[in-house]
Amino acid sequence: MHYYSLGKNSPNVDFRTAAITGQAPDKGLYFPSNIPKFTAAQIERFKTLDKASLAFEVMKPYVGGTIEDASLKEICAQTINFDFPLVPITENILSLELFHGPTLAFKDVGARFMSRCLGYFSKEKKANDRNSNLTKSTEDNTTTNPTTVLVATSGDTGGAVANGFLGVEGVNVIILYPKGKVSPIQELQLTTCGQNITALEVEGSFDDCQAIVKEAFMDFDLNEQYNLTSANSINVARWLPQQLYYFFAWQQWVAKYQDAQGNYPPINIVVPSGNFGNICAGMMAKASGLPLGHFIAACNANDVVTRYLSTEKYEIHKAIATVSNAMDVGNPSNFVRILEILENNFPSLTKALSSYSIDDTITKATIARVYKTNNYTLDPHGAVAFAAAEIYLANLEKANRGSNAQYNTNSYSAIILETAHPVKFPEVVEEAIGQTIAIPDSVKFLLDKKKVSTALAANYAAFKTWMKERK
Ligand SMILES: *Cc1c(COP(=O)(O)O)cnc(C)c1O
Repeated sequence: MHYYSLGKNSPNVDFRTAAITGQAPDKGLYFPSNIPKFTAAQIERFKTLDKASLAFEVMKPYVGGTIEDASLKEICAQTINFDFPLVPITENILSLELFHGPTLAFKDVGARFMSRCLGYFSKEKKANDRNSNLTKSTEDNTTTNPTTVLVATSGDTGGAVANGFLGVEGVNVIILYPKGKVSPIQELQLTTCGQNITALEVEGSFDDCQAIVKEAFMDFDLNEQYNLTSANSINVARWLPQQLYYFFAWQQWVAKYQDAQGNYPPINIVVPSGNFGNICAGMMAKASGLPLGHFIAACNANDVVTRYLSTEKYEIHKAIATVSNAMDVGNPSNFVRILEILENNFPSLTKALSSYSIDDTITKATIARVYKTNNYTLDPHGAVAFAAAEIYLANLEKANRGSNAQYNTNSYSAIILETAHPVKFPEVVEEAIGQTIAIPDSVKFLLDKKKVSTALAANYAAFKTWMKERK
C-alpha cells in the first residue's frame, strides 16, 4: 500500500510519511493506491467481531506495515474505547451517536488515531537517531525536533485534537480559535489541557484563524524550524479511521434487522457534511466491501456539493455562517477524494450519493419538533441530517410506490450520524427545546478548570512573532 497525491505531481509515499506531512508537496491530498477489498467470508465474520479487533483489521491494510501489529492493535483499541450506540428516533430514522468520546464530538476518533500514530512514529525516529548516533561520529549529533501540529478551529476540531494529543511525546499542538465564537464547553476543552497543548485566542473570525494557519504552512522558514503539520481531515491518519463508524453502525443494524436467511434492509446513511471527510470515509468503507446502501450528504446553506449533484457545476464560495457551524465550509477539501473513489464518473456519483441543503429555520424547527414528538434532543448538525433524511425517505417512497413488492417499511429507513452532543451548542438547542441541557458527567470536571490562553491579533505577522519568541 502506498499513497499518491491527487495533485498527481508528487512522489508516492507510505502511510508514515503521509501521516507526518499531512499534505503532498504539490498541495494535493493523499489517496491510497488500492482500496482493500474484504471478502464475503471476512464480512460475515465482521458481523460479530469485537470493536477493537474489527478496527485493527480495517485499519491494518491502510497502515501498510509502517506500524507493527502489536502497536497498531493497541492504538486501535485506545482509539475506540467508548460507545457508538445506534438509537431509534422514529420508526424509520435511527441515530448513530458519535458523541460519546472524551470531547463529545465525532472528531475524537480521527484525532485519537492520528495522535497515537504520530506518537509512535516520533518514538521510532528517536530510537533510530539514537542508534545511528552510536555508530556515527559525535559531531553528527542531530537532535530530533518535535513535530508541531497547527490547527484552526471553529470549536469541535480543536477540542478533539487537544484531547487526542495531550501528553503525546514529541508532538506540540498549537490551536487557534476565534475569541468569543466558541461555546463555553468548547473553550474549556481547548484551553485547560496544559502540557504540550497551547491555545491562541485570536481577535477575529474562524476564517482569520484559518488564514494564519494556511500562511504558516507556506512559510518555508517556519516549517523548517518547527516541522509543522496539520490535524485537519486532509491527513490520512485522521480521515481513514472514520470508516469505523460505518462498520459499527452496520454491525448494530445487522444484529437488529437480519432475518433467518441473513438478509437485512438496505442501510441508507445520512451524514452531516462540511469538509466531506466523514462521508468520504463511509464511501471508502462501502468500496472496500461493507454492504451499505445509499449515501446522503446533509448540508446547511453551504451547498456547493448539493448544487454540483444537480447541475454538474462545482462552484466554491465563501463560507456562510449558520447554526451548524462545524459545517460552514465553502470549498470542501475532501470532495476530490469522493470523486476519486467513483473514478470521476458523474453518473456513478449521482447513483451513490444524494445531497440536500437545509436552512437554519428548518434546522431549529427540526430540533424543536423532534424533541416534542420523539423526545430526542438533536444537536444542530444532527438536525440537518434528520431533516435531510426525511426528504430522502419521502422521495424514495414516492419513487417506489406500488412498483416493488419486496420493499417493506424497513426499506424506507435511514441512519443519521449524530456528530456532536447538543450541550456543545446550548444557545441554539436550548432555545429550540425550551429547556436547559444537562451537562454530561464526563465533561463536568471541566467546569472547575481555569482557562489558559494567549491573546493574539488576527494577522500572520503577530503569529510569527509569537512563534519565534515563545519558549
Ligand atoms: C466536523 C463536523 C462535521 C463535518 O464533518 P466533515 O467530515 O468535515 O464533513 C459535522 N458535524 C460536526 C459536529 C463536526 O464537528
